[in-house]
Amino acid sequence: MTETLIQPHGGTLVDCTLTGEARAAAAEGVATLPSVTLSERNLADLECIATGVYSPLDGFVGADAHRTIVDDMRLPNGLAWPIPITLQVGEADAPEVGAGLALRAPDGRVVARMTVTDVFRPDRRAEARAVYGTDDPAHPGVQAVLEAGPVYLGGPVEVFTDLPAGPFDDHKFTPARTREEFARRGWTSVVAFQTRNPIHRAHEYLTKVALETVDGLFINPLVGTTKAGDIPADVRMACYHVLLEEYYPPDRVFLGVYPAAMRYAGPREAILHAISRQNYGCTHFIVGRDHAGVGDYYGTYDAQRIFDDLGPEELAIETLNFEHSFYCRKCGSMASTKSCPHGAEDHVFLSGTKVRAMLAAGEMPPAEFSRPEVARILMDAQRDAEPTR
Ligand SMILES: [Zn+2]
Repeated sequence: MTETLIQPHGGTLVDCTLTGEARAAAAEGVATLPSVTLSERNLADLECIATGVYSPLDGFVGADAHRTIVDDMRLPNGLAWPIPITLQVGEADAPEVGAGLALRAPDGRVVARMTVTDVFRPDRRAEARAVYGTDDPAHPGVQAVLEAGPVYLGGPVEVFTDLPAGPFDDHKFTPARTREEFARRGWTSVVAFQTRNPIHRAHEYLTKVALETVDGLFINPLVGTTKAGDIPADVRMACYHVLLEEYYPPDRVFLGVYPAAMRYAGPREAILHAISRQNYGCTHFIVGRDHAGVGDYYGTYDAQRIFDDLGPEELAIETLNFEHSFYCRKCGSMASTKSCPHGAEDHVFLSGTKVRAMLAAGEMPPAEFSRPEVARILMDAQRDAEPTR
């Protein structure tokens, strides 16, 4: 039945995971190779490449792809691709072109082999300006690019061991698995929701408005590294579980984690998020205001508008653009400025800062803003994080 699902980006789901004899042979063969140790972000990228989340990439990008992605948001073959997925090392670690390279997880374990096809030294500030719209080192995504080494290694990867287990492995599914699951459930239209925050009423509303028109909802929270100040993934997972149990129909929702790290690249990252979800088998992707943004680097609607820069055939997945939503006391329901004529005085709106202050003070946000079960978990987490209170 999988042929009724949407095609992966580029047409083929990539799988760089070796099994059986090939796995054993590769594991043996790397012992004599030079190695580099991956950062947490590199490891997340490796996992996304190897499992097909980043199809059609089959490795870290080489010099040609780096240039066309940075300049034109496309791979050398013309396929849309917004952010170069790179492996950067220091000069001392730079191998020869053609060399085999062992990739170590941050815990030191060798997990993959890479065939180095490209060793190059692009202008990292120019990359940052094109991809992130700024080369300000205070931007967390830019900072990661500038702090990683100046030497970029490109080439295909082969993973021959189970990647280090994460705390959410019971909710981690490869695109091949999600596609099986969607097919098993008879879903042919699936909307994906990317989030790195707890889901309050506003985002619950967006997901449910979308769910009214499609077969299923894939809640796909990002659990790779995020910046300091974001709510930890384990707390968020507890929130998603209680929300799904209490407020969503179980047969129409599927929860699986997105192993990628956050880049905070705003519009370009929105495209990466959409492509990844197409690879998981989703037909629709929710883009809210300020998607994947940080600080004031991007305009409110930039992440929605950037999809207009792509031709209609370039991505198979469709984006669903949403406004901020809120509870309106006059409407007596959730709404947005698209559907409610009333003024801000009738809307229950709390800033993130205000919510954090309330939770820290042990004060429940209104039920029109956050489900009490979710607020309770956040309040407990806040208290545990500040034992002096
Ligand atoms: Zn209203």
